[in-house]
Amino acid sequence: MSLVDHPGRQHVHIDHAAILRQIHAEVAPLVGQGKVAAYIPRLADVPANRFGMAVATLDGRLFEVGDAAEPFSIQSISKVFSLTLALEALGPDLWKRVGREPSGSAFNSLVQLESEKGIPRNPLINAGAHVVADVVLSSNRNAREHLLAFVRERADNPGVIMDAEVAGSERDTGFRNAALANFVRSFGNLDNPVEQVLDFYFHQCALQMSCADLARAFVYLANRGRCQRSGKSVISAGLAKRINALMLTCGTYDAAGEFAFRVGFPAKSGVGGGIVAIVPNVLTVAVWSPALDDKGNSLAGAAALERFAALTGLSIF
Ligand code: GLU
Repeated sequence: MSLVDHPGRQHVHIDHAAILRQIHAEVAPLVGQGKVAAYIPRLADVPANRFGMAVATLDGRLFEVGDAAEPFSIQSISKVFSLTLALEALGPDLWKRVGREPSGSAFNSLVQLESEKGIPRNPLINAGAHVVADVVLSSNRNAREHLLAFVRERADNPGVIMDAEVAGSERDTGFRNAALANFVRSFGNLDNPVEQVLDFYFHQCALQMSCADLARAFVYLANRGRCQRSGKSVISAGLAKRINALMLTCGTYDAAGEFAFRVGFPAKSGVGGGIVAIVPNVLTVAVWSPALDDKGNSLAGAAALERFAALTGLSIF
């Protein structure tokens, strides 16, 4: 049992271990339903029958169920880490180069970029993540190492890696990302060569982390920008709030409205089947199940988060 400071309510007791066990049993029939992402060939080999979930509370405890310790390709979840580094480097000037509105179209769509003159709608779609990657590259001599060190420290796990095979597999087939980055560059919204931007982007997407790693790593966003272990500031409370807002409105592809409706947490998903969600001032929760629904979110993972919100009563709404 744990005692949490529930916003709006005093001291709600939540038995996270029991809730995770219950969710694991309830979503079992959904695990494997949907499709494992195959457009990155290396991801197509991941077994669809996996399910893991982990909760990290702000008092430093971790609860896990199923395959919560198994590392997987976090893909677009990495966009939140890079955004954190870019905001740290550039501050509000980042918003001159990327917007803060949901796109209403697919994460890898080219259509809006033409009329909006190379300014991507938000930092969590691919074109926006390319601009963010460009900022991280410009502000660090070894951007890849810098990101990896940041993620390892956040996750408190020096064993986190970027899977070179996944990055290579995506580079070999990443024609649409190449088109997006070239298009953005044609409007002057990338400073670094497209190849370098894409190389960094494919490597950030190839970060391999478990649900336990992810739950720990994102605690700073639930903890007003502070590391739970050291108490040190990772980013300001104001920026943590903004990142949470972007996750809520833009973090789950073109289903962010539906996700807010069903679940009610800021969240970011990836095509590797991971979803991480933030409950500000309370906890983080990460879930993984590789088979995706038609919008690209983990089918069993989204159902598990919906049940988690219902069983804990922690939806932000
Ligand atoms: N690396 C993937 C891509 O650019 C990330 C997609 C995702 O997880 O949303 O297509």
